[in-house]
Amino acid sequence: MWKLESSSLDLTVLPVEESLYTLANGYLGIRGCFEEGYPQHYTSIRGTYINGFYDLVEAKYSEKLFGFPEMQEKMPNLMDVQTIEIYLDGECVSLFNGNHVNYKRTLYFDEGYAERSFEYQTQKGKSASIRFRRMVSFQIKELFAIEVKIKYEGEILVKSYMNGEVSNYTDAFDPRVGEHAKLLDWKSSNLIDGRYMIITARTKQTDYEVGCAVYHHCSEKDAFVEIAGEQEPKMRAVYSTNGRMTLTKYAAYSHSRHNQEPVLHRILDIIKKHSIRSFDEHLAIQRLYLENFWHHSDIQIYGNDLIQQGVRFSLFQLLQSVGKDGLTNIAAKGLTGEGYEGHYFWDTEIYILPVLQLVQPEIAEKLLIYRHSILDHARKEARILGHKRGVKYPWRTIAGRECSTFFPAGTAQYHINGDIAYGFIQHYLQHEDLDFICRYGAEVIFETARLWLDVGHFHDGKFMIHNVTGPDEYSCIVNNNYYTNAMARYNMEWAVKFYEMLKLENPQILEEITRKIQMVETEIDEMIEASQNMYLPYDEVLKIHKQDDAFLDKALWDFEGTPEEKYPLLLYYHPLTIYRYQVIKQADTVLAHFLLEDFSEEASIRNAFDYYEKVTTHDSSLSSCIYGIMASKCGYYEKAYDYFMETVRLDLDNTHGNTKDGLHIANLGGTALSVIFGFAGYRIKNEGIALSPWCPQNWSGYGFRLIYRGRKLRVKVTDYLEIELLEGEKLQLKVYGRQYELEKVLKIPLEGLKRDDQSCNI
Ligand code: BGC
Repeated sequence: MWKLESSSLDLTVLPVEESLYTLANGYLGIRGCFEEGYPQHYTSIRGTYINGFYDLVEAKYSEKLFGFPEMQEKMPNLMDVQTIEIYLDGECVSLFNGNHVNYKRTLYFDEGYAERSFEYQTQKGKSASIRFRRMVSFQIKELFAIEVKIKYEGEILVKSYMNGEVSNYTDAFDPRVGEHAKLLDWKSSNLIDGRYMIITARTKQTDYEVGCAVYHHCSEKDAFVEIAGEQEPKMRAVYSTNGRMTLTKYAAYSHSRHNQEPVLHRILDIIKKHSIRSFDEHLAIQRLYLENFWHHSDIQIYGNDLIQQGVRFSLFQLLQSVGKDGLTNIAAKGLTGEGYEGHYFWDTEIYILPVLQLVQPEIAEKLLIYRHSILDHARKEARILGHKRGVKYPWRTIAGRECSTFFPAGTAQYHINGDIAYGFIQHYLQHEDLDFICRYGAEVIFETARLWLDVGHFHDGKFMIHNVTGPDEYSCIVNNNYYTNAMARYNMEWAVKFYEMLKLENPQILEEITRKIQMVETEIDEMIEASQNMYLPYDEVLKIHKQDDAFLDKALWDFEGTPEEKYPLLLYYHPLTIYRYQVIKQADTVLAHFLLEDFSEEASIRNAFDYYEKVTTHDSSLSSCIYGIMASKCGYYEKAYDYFMETVRLDLDNTHGNTKDGLHIANLGGTALSVIFGFAGYRIKNEGIALSPWCPQNWSGYGFRLIYRGRKLRVKVTDYLEIELLEGEKLQLKVYGRQYELEKVLKIPLEGLKRDDQSCNI
């Protein structure tokens, strides 16, 4: 199952489909809007975005206190080139007016394009066949192309537009959607050499230039009528003929933020070079790119097409969303919509990086390089927050500034420092690349670790961290959030390990880094003391780690008295109401038990799952996958599968009701994690890799590949666990805690090894 298909024209489904059918390549993203448009009363978010391209808007507060961010970065909607109107003997084609049959749209994961086709019947009873295909090229990142093919016994007139007067989508009732509409000012529209249509615009505050060049190729020689709109925000090219027409529209986008070359040069150069290839030729190149991607990254589900579709959709959308240049990252909604304004969060390191690092390590590295590149911003932010040393990464950002205006559920999430460090550490464990640590990781890990020394303090011999917010945004500004403290401990432990390692392996680099950040050896001693004495709150009665010092003392939320329509709670209750109760938005302590399972006893991990599950709403899309993974670990197989189903269908079925604002990218990562870390029980630790696989009953199996310390492995789970070493040296690994040596192929029957349901004796 390599595609997504639909034939719906439902007004509530179409904006969701705009997100689902987005085409992107990590740089440029274009939502799946209808070329010919919609009726006036339809909601449509006609979006085109560039990863990392942003404007600044003033942050609004009624009471602005010291250190609150002054400006926020936002991703603007760019000039639109999607619009193509078709007239048949003068009648404007619309799926909402005229009659049509055989309407279908398809997104192909293996070929990287989308298609929409239908037979249209004019009011005079004549019929036309119309097919649109579109792609955003992975090879030439600036390039988008639409091809429209029309067959009609009569006059065909096509008007193809470029629109430089665009704004962003706003929703006054949803804080997760931005509120500033106009971020871009149209500057110029020109026709060059009589055929290249160019529109440029500038961001209002950052004054970055963005340009788009469009060129049309028409199959019918004499069809060209005119290009109009020079010096107007909207340009159009008109073609007319009889019988049949194939029009290919090429568009190239570039901007001045990351390019030295003048924007106009660049887009003209690209459009001239690449519009000489036909749509099919571009498609052939796209196919090759994707063949290579799927070869390494596919997760196969045997015997269940619907799940297979969901899993491949997730991987495809991750590839489409992720920045691959080290200058950009992956936004919470990727390039599929405007929710969260194009910002990058901790979602990257905890939900997306672990997948990419197994199958696409080069891309994973780029995400980490980006974090290294914004260290200076994080340094500045730490000083604003009153810390004398270390860095504090922004909770949400594009270029590095803290963009969160609601600090209790934003800036206060100090755990992002630990999450980013965790990303580097896991990458090291997976690939053992000390050189990468020397170049990028060490500075980040030292600087994030130092911050904990400044945030925390000793009390009764224990190291405590007060007034921070953990992943659960329904309990804010708390003391000793277990997740944060555990991640801080891990961060500091590894800062010490890398310090010692570099001292032996590369003292010169160590000297350079410590000189640069002015870190002295006594700080390493401080880290040892703090991490060894880290306070990890524990409840002796419930035998679980407490989410924070006060969490278990609060009253329980009245779940029975909360009607379905009052979820997500954040949209219907004042934060203070929510904070006073035991109610959790998303996996918090349970997530810590996934990431750092060796910090707890097995029994506490299961107790925590049982306890926290009852008070978790999963109002965040970052939750169900983690509960599913941990259900697998605890041997709660039915639950694991139910959570997986919620995860894999979340956007496809719009279960959170806001997929129109963009896909939930962390959850898409979570889908892949659910198979690899959940069902297969994959873990990577200092001593090597481990698996504890099981297979859902209604599948006949599943399989995936991964890269581990220079080796390529293929894993297949049916009634057997089969691991094949495709490339590289033999290795030791653990299966259900037992040690095996993998030389070529290992085939281990799961029967007998499999845990009993409800037990947790991994
Ligand atoms: C979650 C955060 C997440 C953000 C962006 C919020 O709803 O609570 O954990 O980082 O969405 O995905």
